[in-house]
Amino acid sequence: MDCIYLDNAGTTKMSDKCINAMLPFYNQIYGNPSSLHTMGQIAKEHLEKARQDIAKCINADNNEIYFTSGGSEADNWAIETACKFGKLKGKTHIITTAIEHHAILHTLQEKQKQGFEVTYLPVYENGIIKIEDLKKAINSKTCLVTIMFANNEIGTIQPIKQIGELCKTNNVLFHTDAVQAVGHINVDVKEMNISFLSSSAHKYHGPKGVGFMYAKKGSPLFNFINGGAQEGNKRAGTENVASVVGMSAALVEAVSEMQKTESIIKPLRDKLFAELSKIPHSKINGDKQQRLPNNFNMSFEGIEGESLLLLLNDKNICASSGSACTSGSLDPSHVLLAIGLPHEVAHGSLRLTLSKYTTPQEIDYVIKTVPSVVEYLRKISPVWDELEKGKRSFILK
Ligand SMILES: *Cc1c(COP(=O)(O)O)cnc(C)c1O
Repeated sequence: MDCIYLDNAGTTKMSDKCINAMLPFYNQIYGNPSSLHTMGQIAKEHLEKARQDIAKCINADNNEIYFTSGGSEADNWAIETACKFGKLKGKTHIITTAIEHHAILHTLQEKQKQGFEVTYLPVYENGIIKIEDLKKAINSKTCLVTIMFANNEIGTIQPIKQIGELCKTNNVLFHTDAVQAVGHINVDVKEMNISFLSSSAHKYHGPKGVGFMYAKKGSPLFNFINGGAQEGNKRAGTENVASVVGMSAALVEAVSEMQKTESIIKPLRDKLFAELSKIPHSKINGDKQQRLPNNFNMSFEGIEGESLLLLLNDKNICASSGSACTSGSLDPSHVLLAIGLPHEVAHGSLRLTLSKYTTPQEIDYVIKTVPSVVEYLRKISPVWDELEKGKRSFILK
């Protein structure tokens, strides 16, 4: 598979360091960490070293890190915990945003069916919440504020420290889905007053199917999977030692290279914005400053994002549209609608997400290719024809 891979918010390639760290745990140190014999105890030592290394990367303590099967599980666990303990105290109100990942939104929809009330904060045109809105939304029944650190579609970064402060003052649990942030930008759970945080290894060059939840010491924590005594009796099941060790190697590497990676990929991303903004009737989605250094998202009027993706795929570029679950879904992305894009414009969106493996040559090829593909799609589009003939008016510029 030799393609230009620009779908790093979807998943990433595993780093060599990560793969090499994992290999011995498949056929050499394969003992069960709960076993008392030497091989089991050595596996246990590596598991705990990984926990310690991961904790350091977000300024947590070792015993505040719980291994999970990924970001979705951590999101579900945090919400279930806050709701269970909230309900005991008669608190049944949750605050979130309109642009969360489906692991949050669909879990909250279930909670609504069970009688919880959910406030969805608006994010405005720049894709960022207003602290005043959060202040107004918190009431005596609020048991949880769950707001993502950085968005997976438009890359916008929320004012996490201010949110944490406000939650602390009001004595409300604060969960953040930091799947797009950990390993990419600075995350400090203490400084930011975070009660629960979700992270996933495959978004920072680690393996798929493994992640962790941070739960602040003293926070309530509900037993998510019943069985053995693993993960402090909270999440049973033999630990995925190889994947956890791989996750830790990948995270330590990502955090130690963070500044270097940003200094290489941000200029490449900015070049994409500068060059592709020259396409007429186009728009950058999300705040231009407060966003992840590797995230590009733009809309081009008069085309379908799905067609754009397929043609780019033919030209060897792996990209993603702004659309929700791209596969088969014709609904435009809830994130793009939440930042105020009309349906027609939200449909014609393109997300490119870079990684440390992205090269300047690849970006130049994309800058050469996208305008010609957009032009071709517009030429064969009946909607574009009507726009040009003035039978409809342009929404963008
Ligand atoms: C990828 C992603 C998830 C889901 O993580 P998995 O490990 O794939 O379950 C959750 N939230 C955000 C913001 C993501 O980008």
